[in-house]
Order: sequence, then structure tokens, then C-alpha cells
Amino acid sequence: MMPGQIAKFGNSAAQLLLGGLAALRSFGTGEKDRPAVGDDSRQDIRDLRDAVKQWREVFEHNPVMYFMVDPAGTVLNVNTFGAAQLGYTAAELTGQSVLNVFFEKDHDFVRQCVGLCLETVDQSHTWEIRKIRKDGSVLWVRENAKAMLRGDGTPVVLVACENITQRKEAEDALRQSEAYLAQAQELSRTGSFGLSPTTGEIFWSRETFRIFQCDPATQPNLGFVFQRIHPEDRDAVRKTLDRAFHEAEDFDHEYRLLMPDGSIKYLHSVARAVRRASGCVEFAGAVTDVTIAKETEQRLRRSEAYLAEAQRLSHTSSWAWDVRRQEFAYRSAELYRLFGFEPDQIDVPARAFQQRILADDFQRIADVERRAIHQGEPFEIDFRIARPDGSIRRVHTEGHPVKGRDGDVMEIIGTHVDVTEQFVAKQALQKAFDELKQSEQRFRDYAETASDWFWETGPDHRITRISEHADTASPVPTGLIGLTRWDLPPDAEFEPEKWEQHRAALDAHLPFRDLVYRGRDRNGSPIYVRTSGKPFHDENGSFLGYRGVSSDVTAAIRTEQAEDALRKAQAELAHVTRITTLGELTTSIAHEINQPLAAVISNADACIGWLGRAPADLDAARRSVEWIVEDANRASEVIRRIRALAKKTEIEMVPLDINQVVREVMALVRRELATHAVSVRMELASGLPNICGDRIQLQQVLINLVMNGIEAMQANVELPRELAIRSSRDGDGHLLLTVTDRGVGLDSDVTDRIFMPFFTTKSSGLGMGLSICRSIIEAHAGRLSAFPNEGSGATFQIALPFPHEAAS
Ligand code: ADP
Repeated sequence: MMPGQIAKFGNSAAQLLLGGLAALRSFGTGEKDRPAVGDDSRQDIRDLRDAVKQWREVFEHNPVMYFMVDPAGTVLNVNTFGAAQLGYTAAELTGQSVLNVFFEKDHDFVRQCVGLCLETVDQSHTWEIRKIRKDGSVLWVRENAKAMLRGDGTPVVLVACENITQRKEAEDALRQSEAYLAQAQELSRTGSFGLSPTTGEIFWSRETFRIFQCDPATQPNLGFVFQRIHPEDRDAVRKTLDRAFHEAEDFDHEYRLLMPDGSIKYLHSVARAVRRASGCVEFAGAVTDVTIAKETEQRLRRSEAYLAEAQRLSHTSSWAWDVRRQEFAYRSAELYRLFGFEPDQIDVPARAFQQRILADDFQRIADVERRAIHQGEPFEIDFRIARPDGSIRRVHTEGHPVKGRDGDVMEIIGTHVDVTEQFVAKQALQKAFDELKQSEQRFRDYAETASDWFWETGPDHRITRISEHADTASPVPTGLIGLTRWDLPPDAEFEPEKWEQHRAALDAHLPFRDLVYRGRDRNGSPIYVRTSGKPFHDENGSFLGYRGVSSDVTAAIRTEQAEDALRKAQAELAHVTRITTLGELTTSIAHEINQPLAAVISNADACIGWLGRAPADLDAARRSVEWIVEDANRASEVIRRIRALAKKTEIEMVPLDINQVVREVMALVRRELATHAVSVRMELASGLPNICGDRIQLQQVLINLVMNGIEAMQANVELPRELAIRSSRDGDGHLLLTVTDRGVGLDSDVTDRIFMPFFTTKSSGLGMGLSICRSIIEAHAGRLSAFPNEGSGATFQIALPFPHEAAS
């Protein structure tokens, strides 16, 4: 009972004493109060005195504290025991306010109690309250009090106090330990319960109420419990309880609650079966809310799944290596996959893994591992794995030694990352990079060695800028900033017209292209420069100068010049050869001329004869003269042709009737053919378009081929000496002219070489004829080729394009 609670109190030792005390008070204690009495009365008085003495003894030494307080709260009397309990003497307390032995904050309560007693005289009241000892310590008492009227009618309050400090402390301790238990239950989310299946009675601790979200004021029952249990778990729980009850055995199970808000709680419940004396089985147990643990476990499982997935995706595996056992303490599923095992082959020994590491690499790993264990330092190493399918995987691994309590490394934890793809990509990248570097170098070389350079001139046409490489390495002729293009070239004065035109174009701010001029390089050597440029303007359209590119075309120009020289030399050679051929033809030609000249002479003689007659036969004479003219013309024609052949003329490309060219040649070689008893068959296609060519050169080619054919048939005794000359057109729009003989023919090894200069099989041959013929035909955009005939002899074929078809 706490202060503030006053109860009516029934009969007790304290009450009895209070009664006694009241009796004593009514008798009085002082001698002066004694009335004059007789013997009987004296005896009575003696008895009374004894009684008073006894009662005083009882009063003073009864182990109950007695206080007598007046309505103002002043202590009128206190027994020795009571005063001693509070650390005072009775004299110290008597006359003092009773409030002094109470806590200040309890004073009102004390006044209230005294007041209540005074209002209800002769009625007992009881309450519990703290008192303060003289030394300041606390004393819990149960006070039993009642007001009585004294003889004079004034009230007095009699209080008997029982020391209940011990009980209070025990109660406090119990309350405290209950509080601790409740707190512990709350903290551990474990509630306790008692269950009597027979009666259906249930006892729950505060935490159990909280777990089941049940109002602690209500009485829980099994119906309510099952209502809370998740429907899916109800059967299982019922079975567990039934079995435990029937077998009177402990149970330990897990189930879920479906809470009113739809959330789920996971409970773990354990209970001990207790058989009562009545034979009934009861259970006392604990129920723990393991939701957090369950969810954490689920989260953990999920995060483990995520980790496994992440490892699979990132080709990363993790492991822990037990150094003492030389065995894995842990290895992730991905590690199995990396080494080519199935993740469910859990009993694969570490040795099997090690055997898949390439021997050289394994040795390195062992060294590194030894060092790491010795130094306790983390390490990184790359190695290769040979999988059973023959593939090689490259792995990058990182390991961290973990020390035990004794300071020795007991485990190494680490990761393996499959870097095969990165390795391949890196190699490809490296290769690409190397190639890029090479090509960059190549282009740098090209750029640095290129003869092109860029330049810029200002409005006054003086060079303002010139590209870097040209400025440093290459021999740039116009690399002098501040000069104009025509300040330097030595040909400026030789070709004034060209430069005038160029300067006019510049002044008109016109673009120019492929201006070639002579200059000098840094070393002073003459070079040819080709340059092009275009004007540039500012945003307002004002002319700022020219930008352009120049190149050193010396090599090209020199090549052109060399080609020119070669062409000239070839023409010279052709001429010389022609002359030589003509030399060879001299006899035939002489004969060709002599014959008409002889006819002229004889016809002249005849003419003279006809004229000398009388009368002169003028008709006959005219006929003779006409023959003379004809023959003379024939002779002069031959001479004209020979002269043309012998003349050194410039090449003249004109439209030509190839059949006509053939006929002209035949006129020249006719005698030669006859001399060598060679018959000629001409099969010239009619209606051929003209070709474009140089008459003399084509004649030269044809003469050459005919002469070679004659020579090839020189040795023919059995075979007829026959030369066929054919003109035709092929399907590709070419004129074909062939010279076919029946001579020695061409061996395959010779066919390739006959067009080479100086190749000859003749003792007096020059070996230049065919080579000149080919270059002449090629200069006509045609082709000269030779084939052995089916039977005997060889065929030489000239293919020339018809002009309009060549143009198409
Ligand atoms: P040359 O007549 O001075 O030898 P050519 O260049 O005209 O020079 O001929 C080169 C060589 O080609 C000849 O020596 C000969 O061996 C071969 N040749 C040329 N024409 C014929 C041909 N019609 N039949 C066989 N061989 C030939």
C-alpha cells in the first residue's frame, strides 16, 4: 500500500495494543490524578497500577511503534521501541510535530490521515507510508490509526506502526525484477506464456500480448491465438500442440502470424510440458518474435543470390583458403564455373582445382602464397587455367591474409576475376594501337617527305605562311617568308608572258591551278614547282591573300623530259632502222625503179621511131609518150615513198585506210618477195573504217614484218614460201592486221623474247626491228603480238583501235 491509500483496518495486535493504550489513558498515569479510595479501592488501585505497569511494559517494548498525536499533530507520547526504530529517544520526539519523521512531500497525506481519523472517531484506518529516521534513512511502515476521545472529551489520535521495510524492499525488488524481465522480454522480443490445454486457460506476459497485438486487459484464449496464426500455418500448429499435449512432451516450433494490418510476423515458440499433481498437462514457454531475423535471413539469402548473380555476370568468384588444412574454407559457385566444374560438385577437392592451373603459374602462385603467409601482406597475381574443354582462361586474383589470435595467418580470403576477354581485348587493342602508331608514323613519314606544302600569301602576294614540314625538312623553293613567287624563280625572265598572265590572275583575285615554274631548293639546286591557289577574304569580303598548295614536280618533269628524250631516241632508232631496212631493200628498190626507167627508155626510143617515120605516126608516138609518163610516174612514186621513208619527219597522226598502207608497202617489197620466191596472198576486208596513225611508221612496221616473214621462209625447200596479209575487224572494235608466214615458226621460249631489244637469232641481225615495231604500235594505242601457227610458220598480229570506238 502506497502513501495516499488509507484503508480501514480489522483487529490485529496493533489494534489490541491501541485498545490497551486507550484504557491506560483513561486511567491516567500521574499520582496526583489518583482519587482518595478505601481498602477495596486500594486493592483495585494496586491492581490497576500493576495493570498499568504491565501495559506500559507492553507499550514501551512491544515491537510496534506507538504514537499518540493531538489534533495539531504534536506527539504526545511515543513508545521507546517506536522512538528507537526512528533513531530517537522518546523524549526527543515527544512534544515535536509528528510531521518531522515524514518526508516533506508526504506531509499533506499525513495531515489528511489525521484529519480522517478525527472525523471518524473510534474508527480504525490503515495506510502505508515512509518515515525518515534520524540518520536520514527510510523506514516503510504500515500505520494503523484511530482517533479517540479523552476523558476531557478532547480527541487524540493513536497510531501503531509496523515496520514493513523488508516487505516493501522485497516487493520493490520483485517489481524491479518483473520490470527487468518485461524489459528483457521486450528487448529480446520474447514473451512468456502458460497454457493449460485442459482448461483452455492461457497466461501471457506483457511482451506476449504485444507480440500478438492483444489488449493486455483482455483474457487471451486459444481461439484468439488461432485466429492470429497465419491460415497456412494453423494446421501445423494445431498438430504440434495436440501431439505435445497427448504425449506430454516439450515442443519447439515456428509459425507465422497474420496481423490485422496484413503484415506477417514470424514466431519461434518453445515450451516445456509440466504435469500437475492432478495429472493435467500444462505448458510453460516462451515465444520469440523472429521476424527481423527471418527477414534478415531472407535478405541475406537474397543478397547472397544477388552476389552469386553479380559474380556470375562479372566473372568474379570469391574464396577463403584454410592455410593449415590447405583446403578451401569457402568457395563461391562462380569459382566452380571458372575452373570448369559444376557448381553442385561440392566435394571437389582443392587439389582438383590446383591441377587445372598451368604448372608454371601454379609454381608462381605457391611462391606468392608462401610470401603472403610469411609477411601477412595482401597480394595480386595473374595465372591461367586449362579447362577440360581445352580452353585457357586468364585469371586475375587478389588475396588478403587473415590472422588468427596467435598472430599467424590462418586464412587467405580473395577473389578470382576471369580476365580472359579483357586480355584478348587488350591484346587486340594493343595490336590496333601498334598498327595505329605505325600508320600514324607512316602518314607522318608521308607528310614529312611529301613534296606538297601549303602556303599563304598576303594582299601584296608576299608569302606570309608556309607549312611546317616544308619549312624545316624538305627543300622548299619558295620558303622565304616575305617574298613573292616571282622574286625567286630563274625562269621569270625567260617566260615573261607566263608570269604576266599569272600576276594578272592574282591581281584580279582569280584562283589559279597548276602553274609550273622553275625555282631553286634550299641547296640552290634547280627544281620544278607546281602550284595552285585560291583567294581568301574576310567576313566583309575584303581580299586577304591567297592560300594554296605547291608541290615539287621536278621528278615528274624530269621523267617527262626523259620520256621525251627516249621517244626521240626511239624515233631516231626507228629512222636508223628504216634506213637500214631500206638499205636491205636497195636492190629490190633499184630494180623497181630501173624497170619503169628501162620502159621509159624503150618507149622513148619507140617514140622517136614513130616520130621519125614519114609521115610520123603521131598516135603511136602519143601512146609511147603516155606509157613513158606512166612508167616515169611509177618510178617517181617509188622514189617518193622511199624518200618519205628515209626522211626524218615528225610523227603525224592522220586518218588512214589501212588497206592502202598495205598496198603501198607491197609496192615497195614486191621485188624482194619475188626475189625470194615468196608468194603473197592478200585478204583485205573492204569497208574498214579509217584508223588514226602515222603512215610512215605503220609502213615501217609492215615492211619489218614482211621482211622477217621472207627471212623466216628462206630455208623452205619443201614447203611453199607463202605470205598472207589479212585485214579485218574483231568483235571488240579493233582493226586486226596479220602477217602470216610458213617459215621456221616460233618456239615458246622465243615467243616471249622476240620483242625485247637486241634479241636476234640472225648472225647479222640487230634485234631491234620487233622491239621498235611494238613501241610504234603501242604509241598508236594498239598491240603487236606473235603466235606460232598451227602447222608451220608464225603469225604477227597488229591490233589498232578505230578512232571513234577508242573514244567511246
Ligand atoms: P632481227 O630481224 O634483226 O633479228 P627482229 O627484231 O626483227 O630483229 O627479230 C628478232 C628475232 O625474232 C629474229 O632474230 C627471229 O629470231 C625472230 N623472228 C622475227 N620474225 C620472225 C618470223 N616471222 N618467224 C620466226 N622468227 C621470227
